[in-house]
Amino acid sequence: MKRIAVIGAGPAGLVAGAFAKTPDTSVEIFDRNEKAGKKLFLTGKGRCNITNIASKDEFMRNIPRNPRFLFSAFDGFFNTDIIDLIESRGVRTKVERGGRVFPESDKSSDVIKALVRNAEESGATITLNARIRAVRRTEDGFGIILWDGSERRFDAVIIATGGSSYPSTGSTGDGYEFARSFGHTVTRIVPSLSALVTEEGWPAELAGLSLKNVTLSAYKGKSRVYSELGEMLFTHTGVSGPLVLSASTRIADEPEGAKLFIDMKPALDEQTLEARILRDMEQNRHKQMKNAVLGLLPSRMAPVVLQLAGIDPEKTTDSFLKTERRELVRVLKAIPLTVRRAADISEAIITRGGVSVKEIDPRTMGSKLVPGLFFAGEVIDVDAYTGGFNLQIAYSTGAAAGRAASVI
Ligand SMILES: Cc1cc2nc3c(=O)[nH]c(=O)nc-3n(C[C@H](O)[C@H](O)[C@H](O)COP(=O)(O)OP(=O)(O)OC[C@H]3O[C@@H](n4cnc5c(N)ncnc54)[C@H](O)[C@@H]3O)c2cc1C
Repeated sequence: MKRIAVIGAGPAGLVAGAFAKTPDTSVEIFDRNEKAGKKLFLTGKGRCNITNIASKDEFMRNIPRNPRFLFSAFDGFFNTDIIDLIESRGVRTKVERGGRVFPESDKSSDVIKALVRNAEESGATITLNARIRAVRRTEDGFGIILWDGSERRFDAVIIATGGSSYPSTGSTGDGYEFARSFGHTVTRIVPSLSALVTEEGWPAELAGLSLKNVTLSAYKGKSRVYSELGEMLFTHTGVSGPLVLSASTRIADEPEGAKLFIDMKPALDEQTLEARILRDMEQNRHKQMKNAVLGLLPSRMAPVVLQLAGIDPEKTTDSFLKTERRELVRVLKAIPLTVRRAADISEAIITRGGVSVKEIDPRTMGSKLVPGLFFAGEVIDVDAYTGGFNLQIAYSTGAAAGRAASVI
């Protein structure tokens, strides 16, 4: 019997453990928490966006970091495979907007139960409350050292410890240390899919206000790296919400100084918007500007927008100048913000960076430096946009690592 250890009972580790178990192997999945899948519980706002029904090509377009590394893992275990696996464990799924797959119950806990049941029914055991302190090479395999100092022997080890974000879920970056201790390179760790802190202080005045049907664009220098229509919100330190999280992945490597522009009226070109403002002013004769613009904007935003356009909010529409109208159009089409930094990694959805893919065999997820050592999930230097793509990376790399470990 070959003994295989999996460190981490997140989606990557649970799938890896199930695939690693064969009649010729024993598999033990360790997790430091009192429950498996603690981060999984939080996913999709508690609903768990399990995967996406997109094609492989579409998946590749949603993975900004090292997509080609994932080709063969996706070939081996892809979206329909995880849907079948979860459904075979009694959890029905449904497809929503943008091809996003959710459990029909809208409960992430059902997905966790399915993955745990799948691992346990395959014959793998899950040992909880077991934080691994270190992994070392021994003469005939590996030693796994637990937090209490005790050591266990294995023939192969799969590191599936996740990234560094949301450390309260158990993902505190331990796997990076394990990888380094074997001579692996860990690329720079930065937050991705994160809120953004802005240089400007005014978003704090609007904290909690969310904008719908706006276009957010992000620029690095002169090049536009992101532009999409959707929802965002203001926070005490800057901006957040779906559009901002997506934009953050495009500037994750160097967020400082990136420019953001909010188009409050994406459906109107400048000329049409100017005509609309003229009409609004006609209808609001003698009114103060701060009241006259309320048809155009959420009321809390009016003072900020007027200030950015250099318009006195107290003056009346009677003295509203043509130059000011032009300026108002300009601001409404592109409210500028400058990024100071990404929010702290502890609050990011995803960690960018990780164990270098140059040192991992993409077919097996095996270390190119240490035979018998494997990696799976977010600990690897790959990450994706929102839409279920990150979880699919975890299952696919987990399946590849588990299969390969089972035949060492
Ligand atoms: C709020 C939030 C919402 C998200 N929503 C989605 C979504 O809807 N869809 C999507 O695709 N992705 C989503 N993600 C991303 C997704 O959750 C991760 O990409 C995924 O969980 C990574 O899986 P993993 O198995 O690699 O790591 P993790 O899920 O982080 O699991 C790693 C496990 O390893 C354990 N561990 C770590 N160190 C040790 C140690 N030393 N000893 C023992 N155990 C250890 C941890 O306790 C943890 O249980 C979301 C992330 C967050 C934070």
